Order: sequence, then C-alpha cells, then structure tokens
Amino acid sequence: MLRIAIQTKGRLNEQSLGLLREAGVTIREEKRKFLMRAADFPVEILFLRDDDIPQTVSMGAADLGIVGYNEVAERGYNVEILQKLGFGGCRISLAIPKTEKYEGLSYFNGKRIATSYPNVLQRFFDEKGINAKIHTITGSVEIAPAAGLADAIFDIVSSGGTLISNGLVEVEQILQSEAVLIGTPGLSEEKMAVARQLMSRFESVQKGYGKKYLLLNIPMSALDEAVKILPAMRSPTVIPLAQKDWCSMQTVVDESVLWSTIEKLKAIGAEDILVLALEKIVL
Ligand code: ATP
Ligand code: MG
Repeated sequence: MLRIAIQTKGRLNEQSLGLLREAGVTIREEKRKFLMRAADFPVEILFLRDDDIPQTVSMGAADLGIVGYNEVAERGYNVEILQKLGFGGCRISLAIPKTEKYEGLSYFNGKRIATSYPNVLQRFFDEKGINAKIHTITGSVEIAPAAGLADAIFDIVSSGGTLISNGLVEVEQILQSEAVLIGTPGLSEEKMAVARQLMSRFESVQKGYGKKYLLLNIPMSALDEAVKILPAMRSPTVIPLAQKDWCSMQTVVDESVLWSTIEKLKAIGAEDILVLALEKIVL
C-alpha cells in the first residue's frame, strides 16, 4: 500500500485533496482521521503539518508527499522531486520598509532579517557574499520591521497585499515555489509503479487546468479560415450539420485566448458558440 502525506489544513490541503479526487483517489470525509485509506485506489493518505512532510517522506514513513517546494528547499531532507503540481504558486522574497532607498543586494550587509526560511536565505547570501544577521521567526514575519525586530524580511509573497499593508516593498525574488509531489528515494518497483500511475493521472488533470471545450456552428465556406484560428490538440473536429453548407466544430482552447478566439470566429460567421468546462485531458 502506497502512503501519501498531504497537509492537514492550510493553503495546500484543499487543492491536494482536490487533485487526488480528480485523479480518482477519494476518501470518505465524514470522520477525518490522520491516516485514511482511499476508497478506490491502493493508497492511504497521511495528514500532517506541511513542515513535517519532507522529513516523513525522506524517512520512508510516507512514500510520497504533496508539499510546497519552499518547504523542501528549506528543510534540506533527501527526497526526490517527482512532479510539479501547478498549484500553490508563490515566491520567497526579500522586502524592506518602503521608506528605505534600495540600490542592490549590498543593502543587506549588516542588516537584521526576519524569516521562516533561514536556510534558503543563508545559502543565497553565502552565494552572493552578503553578510547579514538572520533571525528565525516562525509566524507573522511581516510585522518584524515595524516591531523593531528586524530591518528587512525574507518571506512568502503571492499577491503582495500583506507586504503593502505592512509598509514593505519587495526588492528581490529569491525562490519560486509551487506544490510538488515528492517521493522517498529508492522506492520499490512495486510502489514506483503505483506512483507512476498516479503521476500520469495528475498530469491529465493538470493538462485540463485553464482549458475550455469550445463548440460552434460555422458556414462551410469559412471552414478553412476557422481551422487557422482554432488551436487544437490534433486538429479541430468537424461534423456536418443537417442544414446544408453548415458544419459544427469542436476543439479545446486555452482560457487565456478564449475570448479573442471567440471574437475572431464570430467575425468570420461562427454562430451558436458554446463554451464547456473541461475536466481532464488523457493523452
Ligand atoms: P501548517 O499548519 O501545515 O504548518 P503553514 O501555516 O505552515 O501550515 P500555509 O500557510 O498553509 O502553511 O501554506 C502552505 C504552503 O502554501 C506554503 O508552504 C507555500 O508553499 C504555499 N503558499 C502559496 N501561497 C502562499 C502565501 N501567500 N502565503 C503562504 N503560503 C503560500
Ligand atoms: Mg507549516
């Protein structure tokens, strides 16, 4: 039985469970225990604080884990990064009070910096030859400068709203992070086979993120033009309509270009345009 560790609560919990659910790994939610067997796939899910996931996986107490790359980088345990999972995106950045003048990394020489990521920061400063005092704080790092505990912070940023409300400005982005699937080094072939199956399902789910299924009717005379406009996995599906000289087209479109694609299609005579949610893409 393969055991996979995920966050008990917090930012990655819901999306980790969601990804597993989409990949066909479900647990009965009624009474959540810390270790639960999946109903329909040979895995059990271990719920942990995210801090503990890298170590648990490196020891083999869980075979796989879903955790932010930032935690993996900070804790330094020996784990294999098997797959990027496309959610939980953030960065760890250096930020200083907005009243300060910033002219480059040497600003940090001799400064006190509050962070929950002392190892990542120390490695970075060592590489750049910066000599700063790193203060490890486990929570509310962003209030440290105003509280007089530090001159700057090194912390997770996603939208930047927390920095602004604390009068801070991001000056250096040091580490990009997202949720990753990690594994115990040297898993048995049997476990690796299940892990690979899971990874391929995750990939299918991820491929569906940000994609829509588009259906439309178009005059036959505009078909060639429409094929040029429409992106497609292979080429768009074209089905004749009962009404002569018209056909229906179907394809998958990236959400980022959905509206511009629709507008171009309308301009060449497309009608009855339907946009449907897309769940998974299995290649
Ligand atoms: P736990 O109780 O499990 O220790 P936590 O409080 O340490 O949880 P969360 O705040 O739930 O951690 O964040 C979990 C992960 O979510 C982070 O390690 C990071 O990878 C990711 N993340 C994405 N965006 C943000 C953000 N804006 N702030 C904090 N974490 C973020
Ligand atoms: Mg934590």
